[in-house]
Amino acid sequence: MLLGAVEAGGTKFVCAVGNENGEVLERIRIDTTTPEETLSKVFEFFKEREVEAIGLGFFGPLDLNEKSETYGYITTTPKEAWRNYDVLGAFKDNFQLPVVLDTDVNAACMGEAVWGAAKGLKNCLYLTIGTGVGGGAMVDGNLVHGMLHPEMGHILLRRHSDDDFQGICPWHKDCLEGMVSGPALIKRIKGKDVMELKEEDEVWEFYAYYLAQALVNYILILSPEKIILGGGVMKQEHLLKKIQFKVKELLADYVAHDNVKDGIEGYIVLPGLGDNAGISGGLALAKKALLNK
Ligand code: ZN
Repeated sequence: MLLGAVEAGGTKFVCAVGNENGEVLERIRIDTTTPEETLSKVFEFFKEREVEAIGLGFFGPLDLNEKSETYGYITTTPKEAWRNYDVLGAFKDNFQLPVVLDTDVNAACMGEAVWGAAKGLKNCLYLTIGTGVGGGAMVDGNLVHGMLHPEMGHILLRRHSDDDFQGICPWHKDCLEGMVSGPALIKRIKGKDVMELKEEDEVWEFYAYYLAQALVNYILILSPEKIILGGGVMKQEHLLKKIQFKVKELLADYVAHDNVKDGIEGYIVLPGLGDNAGISGGLALAKKALLNK
């Protein structure tokens, strides 16, 4: 079974062909420019290959309500050329195949649930901390969409008393994304090289504090069985431990489960699929679409 997957981000699109075991057999990278230019290259790639279904993990926000007139559109993105663009329609016009669209983070969550760190679990959460911050959640085996889809990066937090950083979210200033995204980090350290920051720099204390608060909220609301943290900021290896420690501290023994009490190292983890979580998730979405056809 050959499946197609697209991981669409603000700077690049990754297109891949893989199989039903989540193995990526071939991939290309396309720069994100205008929808017409970028997608014509994407379509060309898939037209030369015999895929049976295509799974799309896209930057958003997206309209994922099947009853909506603008179902399958990218909506209020800051990337102007893509605003109100019917991305699902463009694929459906070009391919007589099952095509399924979801957010990039929901796709990554799905990939991790099918083949990665949350394999076999029906309740898990994937959070990326990179250019932006966003989360995808699976509850009882289904990706959560709801009214539109969760926007976990924009939750509001209690501020660290020693932190005077303003936050850079254009809408909320000091929401989670405004405080801990990659661009927020660059602004915080004012031109210093991230790689030269010491592990004990107070910046990481702030990062752990805000990310742990976010995870505590997600744990209390969604009760995930596994939490997976991806994205460029998590390449700072020491950060994971700091977050795990802080989550335990903030939960303060209230959640009496071994995952939190003794097993936090196995509960809050990095992606099992590494940087392939998103693209494998696209394959998982395609596989599911084919099975449900
Ligand atoms: Zn925000």
